[in-house]
Parts: sequence; C-alpha cells; structure tokens
Amino acid sequence: MSVPDVIAIDGPSGAGKGTVARAVAQALDCRHIDTGAMYRAVAWRTLQQGRALDDEPAVAAVASGADFDLDGTRVAIDGHDVSRAIRTPEMDVAAAAVARLPRVRAALVARQRSLAVAGSVVMEGRDIGTTVFPEAPVKIYLDASPEERAARRAQDPAHRLSPGTGVAEVARALDARDRLDRTRRASPLEQAPDAVRIDTTGLPVDAVVRRVMKVVGERRQGARGS
Ligand code: C5P
Repeated sequence: MSVPDVIAIDGPSGAGKGTVARAVAQALDCRHIDTGAMYRAVAWRTLQQGRALDDEPAVAAVASGADFDLDGTRVAIDGHDVSRAIRTPEMDVAAAAVARLPRVRAALVARQRSLAVAGSVVMEGRDIGTTVFPEAPVKIYLDASPEERAARRAQDPAHRLSPGTGVAEVARALDARDRLDRTRRASPLEQAPDAVRIDTTGLPVDAVVRRVMKVVGERRQGARGS
C-alpha cells in the first residue's frame, strides 16, 4: 500500500496548530483536517443526546456512527452546525474528557485514517504523527512557552471563561487540559521521535508557515530521492 501523503501537525493547545495548518493547506492546495474539532463535536453530540461523557459505549457509538462535515472552519455533526458551539471553555474540558476513552479514540483514529485516502491532507491534532499516521512523510510538532500559549488563548474571545477572565485563569485552564492530554493512557500528547519541533514563541505566523513549508519541501524531496 502506498504511504498516505499526510502532513501531520501536532502539539499542545495554543501552540498555533490551527492557524498554521490552515495556511499550509492553502499553500499546498490540499485539505485541512482539524481532528480536535472531531473530539469536540463528539462531546457536543453526546451531551445533546443526554448521555454522560464517561459513558464509553455511548460516546464510542457517537464517534463511530456520526456523520461529520468538516469543511474549512465549518464543523457539523449529524446535520448540526456546531462550529461555534464547540469553541467554549466547557467544550475544551468535555473534548479532553472523551479523548481519554480508548474506544472513542479507536473509532476516531479509524475515521481519520480513512479521510487521507482521497489525496494529500494537512491533519492537525495531538497524536497524528505518533498514532494516526506514524508513517506520515512530514511530521511537525509545534510548541510555545506556557505564557505565550495562555496569552494567545486569552486573546481569543471563544476561550475566555467569562467576560473579563484574566490570562492567569486562562493559563490555569490550559495547564489542566495539557496535563489531561499528556498523562492519559491512550495516545498521550507527545512528540514523535522523527517530528521536527518548532518553537513558535515570539514567531509571527508567516515565519512558522515558512519553516513548515521548508520541511515539507525537504521531506518530499528526500522521499523522491529514496
Ligand atoms: O485541538 P483542540 O483543542 O480543539 O482539541 C480538543 C481536545 O481534543 C484536546 O484537548 C485533546 O484532548 C483532544 N484531541 C486528541 N487528539 C487529537 C486531537 C484532539 O486527543 N488528535
């Protein structure tokens, strides 16, 4: 089987994955898939169905059976447009809770793999380079200082806990979610050994995108040469 042409972009919250992944996909004229949005949408749909987030069979049933529509920044699940509803502090916590469940991960990982059969894709998440596509030709791990990640999140109105929430409170929520993502047993957030790490602290988006595009060029050239 041929290796899927996946550009895997992983890293913690606030490292700049979304903005960078979108720009790279645009530059390469290929699809962009935000796998975090899938975990968020599954959590939303589970709650909407009146089920608990720790009811693993119920959440896994949503994850394997739901109809996802991931088109640009629009996210819909089973016909419900949840693009805005999933970007709240409550859904940050809910998504991380369902992401700890191994059966839910297995269902979403299978669906993410099937999304790459239709051609090149930039896929962002936490485990793309380690678990979803360990054979991806390009793997990037974006990171930034905790202070910078919290400052970026605090500037995003969707992620303020309530009007007037300070950076310190956003930083605490971010730290708690990071801890959940790094310490869970099923596919914790970690850098793949062969990923290129880019520290985005203090770097403008276009500089990060240029670095990623350089890695894409080098890796693709290497793959052709081998
Ligand atoms: O990236 P985003 O903040 O939207 O992801 C929401 C949550 O979904 C993360 O905190 C993480 O728990 C989970 N996630 C994951 N694996 C991915 C993408 C997201 O566990 N590939």
